[in-house]
Amino acid sequence: MSDTKSAERSLDPESWDALRDLGHRMVDDMLGYLEEVRERPIWQPVSAESRAALRQPLPRAPEGAERAYSDFAQHVLPYPMGNIHPRFWGWVIGTGTPFGALAEFLAATMNPNVGGGDHGATYVEAQVLDWFKEMLGYPMDASGLLVSGGSMANLVGLAVARNARAGYDVRKEGVRGAPGPLTVYGSSEIHSSIQKTVELLGLGHDALRLIPVNDRFEMEIAALEAAIARDRAAGCVPIAIVGSAGTVNTGAFDDLDALARIAERERIWYHVDGAFGAIAALDPGLRPRLAGMERADSIAFDLHKWMYVPYEAGCILVRDAAAHRATFTLTPGYLARATRGIAAGEIWPSDFGIELSRGFKALKVWMMLKEHGIDRFAALVRQNVEQAQYLERLVRERPDLELLAPVPLNIVCFRYRGDGSLSEQELNDLNAELLMRIHEEAVAVPSTASIRGRKAIRVAISNHRTRRADLELLVEETLRIASQLVGSLERAGSGIR
Ligand SMILES: *Cc1c(COP(=O)(O)O)cnc(C)c1O
Repeated sequence: MSDTKSAERSLDPESWDALRDLGHRMVDDMLGYLEEVRERPIWQPVSAESRAALRQPLPRAPEGAERAYSDFAQHVLPYPMGNIHPRFWGWVIGTGTPFGALAEFLAATMNPNVGGGDHGATYVEAQVLDWFKEMLGYPMDASGLLVSGGSMANLVGLAVARNARAGYDVRKEGVRGAPGPLTVYGSSEIHSSIQKTVELLGLGHDALRLIPVNDRFEMEIAALEAAIARDRAAGCVPIAIVGSAGTVNTGAFDDLDALARIAERERIWYHVDGAFGAIAALDPGLRPRLAGMERADSIAFDLHKWMYVPYEAGCILVRDAAAHRATFTLTPGYLARATRGIAAGEIWPSDFGIELSRGFKALKVWMMLKEHGIDRFAALVRQNVEQAQYLERLVRERPDLELLAPVPLNIVCFRYRGDGSLSEQELNDLNAELLMRIHEEAVAVPSTASIRGRKAIRVAISNHRTRRADLELLVEETLRIASQLVGSLERAGSGIR
């Protein structure tokens, strides 16, 4: 009997002082880690020892916080993906910020469930959504939701599109109630998440009409109009046009104003995938390229790419808040709303998406925007674009390098072409190998793209730590490794490998 009290446990520390000491050390270590990120290799393979340390049986007895932290420091921390490094330009990946990381700690400390209710976090999310509407020139009465990223934002936006434009109650009848095949339009350069979305929405990816692009990789408007007309004549129901604001391969912008006009005329939902490109609206010089985006019915964009917010954070904005809510709201008795107390509150984010329980992503966004102010982000976006233009110049200056696509934004696609004596196949093999060596020698992390069948080394700069000297180094090292590869080829006599 006398023991009952001590038998009741919690997961709080036995010694708050000991955890406080450890916590201070963790903060010092992590800030030091970021401060010195440039000095360390961008990437290294996970050692055999560390891989073994990460294949242990489920711990039964406590190992303690100190041990957990030292295992992290020894077996996880030395093996970053690399995207915090100044020379990481692969795919489209953001860097995060030190203060953003600290904000994550604060969010996890409060640990609210931001599905809804009357508490601080819900208001912070509403605040950052309003800031984004202001930033993009979108109507202030639009609805929105923070989500895990661009993929989820596209899914939410196109789910609303389907339900709003199918012409019947899709929530009740599903896609089998459709009077004809529901079709979606985007350029041949759209992101894979659009296809996944179309598949998940039950339309099947045959319903996704991929419209050809011009030589700047922008959707051919006449081909779009022809496809819609053809589909209508065949009994299809066009429900959505997806405009790309910044394509993943080359950073191209569709003619967003022309798409808006067609969507309005045809009464089709207009969704813009602006995963990173929408952020270009911050720069007055780039903003004209985005003209028409503000006319979209929904806009998807990422915060963890070109807003440099730590993973994960993306955003969807929807012009017609009622249509947005009507797609997702469902309030069973156990989720009943109140007019007073915690279960009150005007906005329930869970009414606007799939997730019921939701983390406090908004805090890092809110704190980073307050820390730096939006003008600083605008300057960094501009800096990244100018860096891409600088790399473009460096590539043009070297006769043995070749640009494979225009550079409208922050992405540069180039390849090594040597003296022009290699075939297209040999060039593709050579550049594939070159990219692997650039990664393995920890020079930098570009990624690849296939530009009209040509293998590109693709540099996408959404990195606030990059300097021009980093791009100079990439060019020099690319040429050095390439000439080694060509030299070993010549010694081997013929062909690659
Ligand atoms: C990255 C990207 C997406 C997907 O966003 P995630 O945050 O990775 O889910 C969608 N569209 C475009 C154009 C992208 O660049």
